[in-house]
Amino acid sequence: MSSQSQPNLRIPGPVPLPDDVLKIAGSQMINHRGPQYADMLDRMTANLKTVFMTANDVYFITSSGTGAMETAVTNTISAGDRVLSIIVGAFGERFAEIAEAYGADVTRLVFDLGQAADLDMVRKTIRGISDLKAVIFTHNESSTGVSNPLEDLCRIIHEESDALILVDAVSSAGGVPIAVDAWGIDVVATASQKSWISPPGISMVTFSKKAWEAHAHSTTPKYYFDIQQYEDYLKIGQPPFTPCLPAMFTLDVALQSMVDEGIENVFARHHEIAQHTRDGAKALGLELLPDPRFASNTVTAIRLPEGIDGKAFLALVTRNYNVILGGGQKSLTGKIFRVGHMGWVEKAHIDEALKAAEETLRSMSS
Ligand code: PMP
Repeated sequence: MSSQSQPNLRIPGPVPLPDDVLKIAGSQMINHRGPQYADMLDRMTANLKTVFMTANDVYFITSSGTGAMETAVTNTISAGDRVLSIIVGAFGERFAEIAEAYGADVTRLVFDLGQAADLDMVRKTIRGISDLKAVIFTHNESSTGVSNPLEDLCRIIHEESDALILVDAVSSAGGVPIAVDAWGIDVVATASQKSWISPPGISMVTFSKKAWEAHAHSTTPKYYFDIQQYEDYLKIGQPPFTPCLPAMFTLDVALQSMVDEGIENVFARHHEIAQHTRDGAKALGLELLPDPRFASNTVTAIRLPEGIDGKAFLALVTRNYNVILGGGQKSLTGKIFRVGHMGWVEKAHIDEALKAAEETLRSMSS
């Protein structure tokens, strides 16, 4: 909970860390080419597979989430490949930009902010693209608080094509179910500072057999993010490059505790606190941005009432209540605020944040 020194950080990542995790993040460094690291990597790899319900390969990369998205693209797609990018917000656009930066022939299918991808439109668009190499999209669009219907999207993509499925799950994985094998996802990208109760610094990817086949034919230049390096070093229990050890230490603990708690229970907790947040906001008379059928279980986007200066609102909430809320991004700047509820979060954190928002809005309208 907040105090003068510890604000109630409610942005959608980096998430706040409880004291015991902070202590682990401050542990002494170890030899990343020694047996202690090898044991840790082995355990983390097994636990990450459990969370992703997959027998596919999984890798830890020292980068932010965008690095994992770039890994997904550069290892599977070559210049000139046709890629469908389903966009429901700012991070979907980023994925398209990465693919374009590496020369992919990107078709954008863009939906209104607050909406999820429409399945019929996706189906129709796929039918219109021959030799489609990959479909790339955001699972949980942190900028709008929308969660795309991942399982349904994967089903339709498989029904209509042989395309690879590359998913930005940076702000969903670890908080909501992603059944990588059952849904046939080729690459999932996520990052430590989200539901994984860790500092920024480590991204994680899953990599399917089909993704490996694509890797064998990919002509995209790559070095740091070449997944082959991670695979070769994994075999000897090492990272290819010096890892962000503090984030690895805390991720190790987080993954083990998720598996010990039972991943269904972790997902149920996220659902419950998300519902609590949505109900709380609505009880204050506030309107949510997302289509309620697709409201995210890790971040809630709330519309600011007409006439409220969004920048001043966020500043007052922080100054007067020691609560840090997320603002709107790009065209949503000044129109919404966002409350993160992934990872370590209690109802009291949410109640305090909503109370701060309510009282601030009231003071600004009077
Ligand atoms: N995708 C989504 C859905 C995100 O929420 C974020 C981070 N907010 C990113 C990608 C980018 O991650 P990073 O800032 O760690 O590169």
